[in-house]
Amino acid sequence: MAEPIKVVVTGAAGQIAYSLLYQIASGEVFGRNQPLILHLLDIAPMMEVLQGVVMELEDCAFSLLSAVVPTTDPEVAFKDVSSAFLVGSMPRKQGMERKDLLSANVRIFKVQGEALDKFAKKDVKVLVVGNPANTNALICAKYAPSIPRENFSAMTRLDQNRAQAQLAGKLQVPVSTIRNVIIWGNHSSTQFPDAASATVTNGGKEEKITNLIQDAAYVQGKFVETVQKRGAAVIAARKMSSAMSAAKAASDHMRDWWCGTAPGSFVSMGVYSDGSYGVPKDIVYSFPVSVSNKKWSIVQNLAVDDNARKMLDATAKELLEEKEEALLVCQD
Ligand code: NDP
Repeated sequence: MAEPIKVVVTGAAGQIAYSLLYQIASGEVFGRNQPLILHLLDIAPMMEVLQGVVMELEDCAFSLLSAVVPTTDPEVAFKDVSSAFLVGSMPRKQGMERKDLLSANVRIFKVQGEALDKFAKKDVKVLVVGNPANTNALICAKYAPSIPRENFSAMTRLDQNRAQAQLAGKLQVPVSTIRNVIIWGNHSSTQFPDAASATVTNGGKEEKITNLIQDAAYVQGKFVETVQKRGAAVIAARKMSSAMSAAKAASDHMRDWWCGTAPGSFVSMGVYSDGSYGVPKDIVYSFPVSVSNKKWSIVQNLAVDDNARKMLDATAKELLEEKEEALLVCQD
């Protein structure tokens, strides 16, 4: 057996973490031969709830779980971690403006970036789930200058999974036969779910989805809107935001980062923009990426038509605005 790695989950008493911790501890993410020590960070009022989560983790008797460390202290939480799931963030309350939400969360991610910088392993892989995830990841990286900025990412995998599921439903095929759907930009309603490169494999033959669905009104209209508004639809029905699917997406994201993507397949991750596809540099923007040896690279030379160009630019504009607001908050 390998040496255990340390993995931190923040917001560990929350509802996404409740589903996520099971998947991490069972070996879904880092492999079935990789023992783990779980560090669970949450705020002081949540410690009693967190103790219950710790008891349940014990009672699962996971063979890979060497130890569980619940804490309110970022030094303890981030010490020597190889992987970080930053789930905890201030929820949006009624009447709260986007700006208020941004400013509360930017402060949290500044502190966590500083703690990662001081205490985490330098090759730590950081996944930000807490919203506004892209800008939180940007701020976190900014305050962790000793860690390469390629090691920070934001989650758009749930949007990707939702998009795959919508296309599978439309074509009446298993979701596993669909690949290479892209989510561009921000994890917000300006994101662009793009089916132009997506394929379906049927009887050993891989075909472009846009050849099978020759309906631009659907691909550019209903499909995009359904994915953009899916989170709100789940909240309306469940009276709580999506948690099981968000946790599954976080597992998928980190597993692909850790273990790599299949040849010819790509996935969407919010990563530091290098200017690819004419996207402004130095924002955390969701691109199609492939991963090997635990390093992602942006897939190049995919087609971007006029409609896609407008969508890519609109979501970039929102991220530039968020960045500006976030940097102002950090100066306070
Ligand atoms: P969740 O675990 O449901 O959500 C946490 C974050 O994930 C929120 O930012 C939320 O954004 C985001 N999120 C929710 N659904 C999705 C989705 N479908 N896709 C992408 N992102 C999503 O919230 P809980 O209230 O259950 O738990 C939050 C925990 O965080 C609490 O235990 C709280 O104490 C803790 N916390 C910890 C902090 C810390 O560790 N320093 C600081 C603040 C809170 P949205 O609100 O937009 O849904």
